[in-house]
Amino acid sequence: MKNLVDKLYETHNLEDSELKLLLEADGSIDEYLFSLSDKRRQEIYGKDVYLRGLIEITNYCKNNCYYCGIRCGNTKLERYRLTKEDILDCCEQGYNLGYRTFVMQGGEDPFFTDDYMCEIISSIHTKYPDCAITLSLGEKEMESYQAYYNAGARRYLLRQETANEEHYRKLHNASMSSEHRKKCLFNLKEIGYQVGTGIMVGSPYQTTENIIEDLRFMQKLNPEMIGIGPFLTHPDTPFASEKNGSLELTLRLIAILRLLFPYALIPSTTALGTISPMGREKGLKAGANVVMPNLSPTRFRKLYSLYENKICTGEEAAECRQCLEKRVQTAGYQIVTAVGDCIRSDVKPSVK
Ligand code: SAH
Repeated sequence: MKNLVDKLYETHNLEDSELKLLLEADGSIDEYLFSLSDKRRQEIYGKDVYLRGLIEITNYCKNNCYYCGIRCGNTKLERYRLTKEDILDCCEQGYNLGYRTFVMQGGEDPFFTDDYMCEIISSIHTKYPDCAITLSLGEKEMESYQAYYNAGARRYLLRQETANEEHYRKLHNASMSSEHRKKCLFNLKEIGYQVGTGIMVGSPYQTTENIIEDLRFMQKLNPEMIGIGPFLTHPDTPFASEKNGSLELTLRLIAILRLLFPYALIPSTTALGTISPMGREKGLKAGANVVMPNLSPTRFRKLYSLYENKICTGEEAAECRQCLEKRVQTAGYQIVTAVGDCIRSDVKPSVK
């Protein structure tokens, strides 16, 4: 097994059968795997960890994904939308805390028309020309993505969720398809966005073969960022009684991603911190190099409930910032703010 890890470190790739062995190996390989993924990470990024301030702009969603707590079929959830002014307030707080990237994420909410989104994006862009604007608003038409880009957005996060059509259909209703989601990702690339994709680890019906297919899809797409986290149940979804994904497999996959995509920006996600109190620290040690503190107004945080027991829903933005700073330090790394946040890391070519 160590030979496989060495090969992965040296060649940035493995055969499908080798990936399967590694993904299904017992925990005894992890120490060695994480030592090499951390080595690779430090060769490229040193001990730097980048901050992305997350603003959850709406929990309205027209989709009905079986895993997600903000699905339109969840009638128990109180819905909210931030106004443009709310969002600009979040950015101001974030800017003062040292954030230079703002990520606007939300359900697919038609209330945010392209015109309104563009107005918001260009206001942020004008006020904070030194900041990067990232969007995570789901599947849109090419024209919409282009309009957001023209308004000043430069990054887009859209997890593939699963690259396998059959698996995709088990997680979503018939109006959605893996094919369309992939098309969106290639459209974003074509426009010139820096693209983030990813999967939930341990989503219902996921097989090792599915994960390998996901990795192959990522190699084709060549994303700048790859976000993964364990699948976590939400009581008011059709998957309420499914099993949560595992911390161990998520960490192992972070390490594999670091070795397959040495230059990728890999967040240590909130879902990882939710499944285990030290999950995010462990993620950083396995190869992750980004954290995404929450900047949403505290009064709405609990309502952006993708899954149960989501952490960081009680704190103010400043507390989140301090807490993460400590966690990053505990793990042995350092947060980088201002310069370097959005420039240095993003121009690196990907290595195949
Ligand atoms: N509407 C946007 C943003 C979705 S929320 C979009 O479609 O991209 C961001 C991510 O949270 C999703 O891509 C999904 O991978 C993750 N997520 C949703 N529900 C989850 C759950 N129950 N457990 C873990 N992750 C979940």
